[in-house]
Amino acid sequence: MKTIMVTGGCGFIGSCFIRLLLSDTNKYRVINVDRLTYAGNLANVEPYSLDDRLVFERADVADAKKIAAFFKKYTIDVVVHFAAETHVDRSIKDASPFIRTNVVGTQVLLDACRAHGVERFVQVSTDEVYGALDEGEPAFTEESPVKPTNPYAASKAASDLLVNAYHHTYGVPCIITRCSNDYGPYQFPEKFIPVVILNAMDTKQIPVYGTGQNIRDWIFVEDHCRGIRIAMENGRPGEVYNFGGNSLKKNIDVVKQILGILGKPETLITLVEDRPGHDFKYAMNFQKATKNLGWMPSRSFDDGLLTTVAWYREHAGWIEAIKSGAYLNSYRDYMNRRKQR
Ligand code: NAD
Repeated sequence: MKTIMVTGGCGFIGSCFIRLLLSDTNKYRVINVDRLTYAGNLANVEPYSLDDRLVFERADVADAKKIAAFFKKYTIDVVVHFAAETHVDRSIKDASPFIRTNVVGTQVLLDACRAHGVERFVQVSTDEVYGALDEGEPAFTEESPVKPTNPYAASKAASDLLVNAYHHTYGVPCIITRCSNDYGPYQFPEKFIPVVILNAMDTKQIPVYGTGQNIRDWIFVEDHCRGIRIAMENGRPGEVYNFGGNSLKKNIDVVKQILGILGKPETLITLVEDRPGHDFKYAMNFQKATKNLGWMPSRSFDDGLLTTVAWYREHAGWIEAIKSGAYLNSYRDYMNRRKQR
C-alpha cells in the first residue's frame, strides 16, 4: 500500500479525489492534511471517516514544523497538493492569506519532499495562471506563457514556478496539473455555480458580473480528479498537463440553463458591477493529456449540471451545516468518533 499525503482533502476537489481513490482501490492509504478553513469540511469525506485507509491531520501547510513531523510520523510516498485559498474575490480584497497558504505552504511541502524523498509531488494548479484570452484566441497549451492577472492566480503561478524550480534544482519529482473551472457536488457555496443554484432554489436574485459575457471552460469535478490520478500514476516528472472540460460557456448562459432546470424565471438575474480585472475567457487545450495519459473528460456539461443541481436539491443538511460553521462541528464529531472506537 502506498501512502499519499493529500493536502486540502476537506475542500471541494480534494475531497472528491479522496472519495474517488478510496472507492476504487485498496492500493492507497491517505493522510489528509487540512487546516479546516471556512472552505474545508470533514463531512465531505464522511463515508471514509472511520476507514483505516484514511487518516486526518488538522494542520496548516505553511507550518513547517508540523509538516516535517508528518513526514517523520508517516512514510509518505506521494504528495498531491490541493490545499489553497481559492476564491478570486477574496484575493482581490486581501491577498495575504493567498501568499501564505498558496506560496509559502507549497514551499514548505517541497522542502519536506526534498528532505525526505518522495516518488511524486503533484501540484494541483489552474488555467488562471495563463491569464485571459480574447475572443477568437486559441486555447491555452502547456507552452502558453504564465501571465496571471489577479492575486489568486498570481499566487498559484508563483507556487507553480517554485515547483518547477525544486524539480530542476533539487530533482524533486514534480508534476503540475492545470485545470479549468470545476463544478459538481460539495462545492462551497461562494463559487459561481453553487451560488446560482442555491439562490435559484430559494427564488432569490442571482448576481451576475458585468453583462455575463465572460467565458469559462467547465469541467465536472470527477473528470478532473480522474486526470489528477492518472497524472500521479503515469505522468512524467517535470511535465505540466492541462485538463479541460470541452464545455465553453458564457456565464449568462450557465445561469439561464440552471434556471431552466429549476423552473425559475430569468427575471431573477441581476447584473452587478463587474469584478476588477475580470478575465474575459479561459479555454484549455488538453491534447497532451489525451495523447500521453489517455485522459479525456467524460461528462457533458448538460449531464454534469443536472447531477449537480440534483445533488444540491437533495443535500439541504450539508448546505445548512456549511452556513453554520460545519468545518468545526465536523472536526468535533470526527474526533469524538475516533475516540469512541
Ligand atoms: P476549496 O477552497 O474548496 O478547498 C480548499 C481546501 O484547502 C479546504 O479544505 C481548506 O480548509 C484547505 N486549506 C486552505 N488553506 C489551508 C492551509 N493553509 N493548510 C491546510 N489546508 C488549507 O478549493 P478547491 O476548489 O477544492 O480547489 C482545490 C485546488 O484545486 C486548489 O489548489 C485550486 O487552486 C485548484 N483548482 C481549482 C479549480 C476550481 O475550479 N475550483 C480549478 C483548477 C484548479
